[in-house]
Amino acid sequence: MEKSKNNTNFIYEIIDSDLASNKNAGSVHTRFPPEPNGYLHIGHAKAICLNFGIAKEYKGLFNLRFDDTNPAKEEQEYVNSIIEDVKWLGADWGDRLFFASDYFQQMYEYAIRLIEKGKAYVCDLSAEEIKKYRGTLTEPGKASPYRKRSIEENLDLFKRMRDGEFSDGERVLRAKIDMSSGNLNLRDPIMYRIAYANHHRTKSQWCIYPTYDWAHGLEDSIEGITHSICTVEFENHRPLYDWFLDQLDIHHPQQIEFARLNLSHTVLSKRKLLELVEGEHVEGWDDPRMPTICGLRRRGYTPQAINSFCKTIGVAKFNSIIDMVVLENSIRQELNKTAKRVMTVLRPLKVVITNYPEDKEEELDAINNPEDEATGTRKVPFSKVIYIEKNDFCEEPPKKFFRLAPGREVRLRYAYFIKCDKVIKDVNGNVVELHCSYDPATRGGDAPCGRKVKGTLHWVSAKHAFEAEIRLYDHLFTKRNPSEDDDYRISLNPNSLEVLTGAKLEPSLKTAQAGSRYQFERLGYFCVDREGVFNRIVTLRDSWAKIVKKGKK
Ligand code: ATP
Ligand code: MG
Repeated sequence: MEKSKNNTNFIYEIIDSDLASNKNAGSVHTRFPPEPNGYLHIGHAKAICLNFGIAKEYKGLFNLRFDDTNPAKEEQEYVNSIIEDVKWLGADWGDRLFFASDYFQQMYEYAIRLIEKGKAYVCDLSAEEIKKYRGTLTEPGKASPYRKRSIEENLDLFKRMRDGEFSDGERVLRAKIDMSSGNLNLRDPIMYRIAYANHHRTKSQWCIYPTYDWAHGLEDSIEGITHSICTVEFENHRPLYDWFLDQLDIHHPQQIEFARLNLSHTVLSKRKLLELVEGEHVEGWDDPRMPTICGLRRRGYTPQAINSFCKTIGVAKFNSIIDMVVLENSIRQELNKTAKRVMTVLRPLKVVITNYPEDKEEELDAINNPEDEATGTRKVPFSKVIYIEKNDFCEEPPKKFFRLAPGREVRLRYAYFIKCDKVIKDVNGNVVELHCSYDPATRGGDAPCGRKVKGTLHWVSAKHAFEAEIRLYDHLFTKRNPSEDDDYRISLNPNSLEVLTGAKLEPSLKTAQAGSRYQFERLGYFCVDREGVFNRIVTLRDSWAKIVKKGKK
C-alpha cells in the first residue's frame, strides 16, 4: 500500500510493519469513538484527524462510533452535534455510523461466556468495599469473599441482575484476573454495574451497563477495527483490553496510545467545558471563546485550518502543552491568502477635511487581496468627513509614533495625504474631532515626486459607512495552564470578550453573509456572526508574543 512520505509518525511505523507482516490480512480500519456526553473540542479534532487520516492514507476504513455505555450523562443533543462536527471537519465514515448500545446484547453474551469459563463472577461488595479490597500500588489487593462463587450461581445471579431483581449498586459483575497484579486495572475490574437509568437509545431496556474497559475492546472487535488508537491515559488499561479479547478469543485489534492535545490558555475536558457552559462563564458550547469545534467554527475557523493545525503539531507519545499561537497561526496563514481586505474603524474619531468640497464624493480603487491578484479591486467612497481610529491620533506623540499628530501628515490608504491642522476637544478635554487638510495631488495615496510620510491609516467615509457590533476575543484564561490549579476557574480571563458597538464599516460589508471572513485592514481577521455582528477571529500578528516579550504578562 502506498502512502505519501510526508505523513509519518510512530503510529504509521507500527501500521507499516503490520502490513509488511500481513497482519489483519493487510487491512487498516480505524475509528473515532466519542462518548456523547458533551460537544467535541479541538483535542477531539486531533484524534479525528489522526484516525481518519490513517484510514485515508492506507485506503482503509474509518468508523464513527458513539461510545454510549453510560446513560447518566449522555444525550441526543450531543450525538447530533458530534455528527455535525465530525462531518464539518471532513472525516467521512461512509455508512459506518455505530452505537455501542447496539452491541449491548452481544456484550451480555460475551460476559456469559466469561462466566462459563470461570473468568468472571458476581460480587456483592459495596463500591467502598471493592475500593478497600483493591489494595494500592505497594500493597496487593484482597480477594472478594464472592470470588469463589460457582459458575452456576454466577450465571443465575448475573441473569437476575439483568432482569432487574436487584437495586442500584447491590451487585456487580467482575472479571476474575489477579488481585495481586502490579497493574491495579487487573485486580478483578468491574464489567457491569446495575443502573436504572433511561438510556438515550435503549431507553429502559437494560438495567445493567458495561464499564468502559469491558465495552471498549468489544466494540472495536465487533467492528473489525485493526488499530484502536487512544490517548496515553489508557496505556495502563491495555493489558486489560488484551486480556478480555484473549479470553474470549475474538478478533483482537491493537491498542496504540498517543499524547492527548493540551492547548495553552484553555481547558480541553468535556467536564470542564460543561461547567463553563452551566456556570454561564461563556454564552454556550458555541461561544467563540470556547475550544469546542462549534465555538471555533463560530469564531471563524475553517476545517482546513484545524486540519493543518493537527498536521503541524504531529503525534507523539508524551504529553505537552501546545501554545495557542500555533492554532491561531493556522487560520492566519489561510486567511492571509484567502480573506478579502476591507476598511473598518473600530473606535471612530471624526476627521473633517476642511479644504475638501462639501458635496463632493469620490470612488477610489482599493485592492481586494494583495496575495491574490485575481480578486481585483473594489470602489471605496470618500467624502469630506471620515473616521479614523482613535488611537491613530496622538496629541503629544511619543518617539516612535508615526501616525497622525498635530501638524503632521499621513497617508489615508487608497485616498490622499492629509495633514492635521486643528484638534477639537469637548469640555473634559477629550479629543472629539480633527480638522485636516488634504493634498489633491496625492490621489490614490501616491506621493508626487518622492514626498514621504511615515504612517498609512485606514479610514471610512462617514456618510457612507454603516455601524456594526464588533466582538473582540481574548484568551479565555489568563494562565497558560489553568488546569494546574485546584479550581481552573480562578484564572478565567475577565476581559476575554470586549463588545464594541459604534464601529464604522465600509459599505461593501453591508451584504456580507454570515460565516464569511474578512481581513479588516490593520486590525485582524473577522467573521460575520450574524447581520450587524462581527467576531474577531485573530489579530494580524500574535499580539501576546509582543506583550510577553515586554515582560508585562
Ligand atoms: P474529555 O476528557 O474531554 O471528556 P474524553 O477522552 O473523555 O475527553 P471521549 O469522547 O471519550 O472524550 O473521546 C473520544 C476520543 O477522542 C478518544 O479516542 C480520545 O482519546 C480522544 N481525545 C479526547 N480528548 C483528546 C485530546 N485532548 N487530544 C487528543 N485526543 C483526544
Ligand atoms: Mg471519556
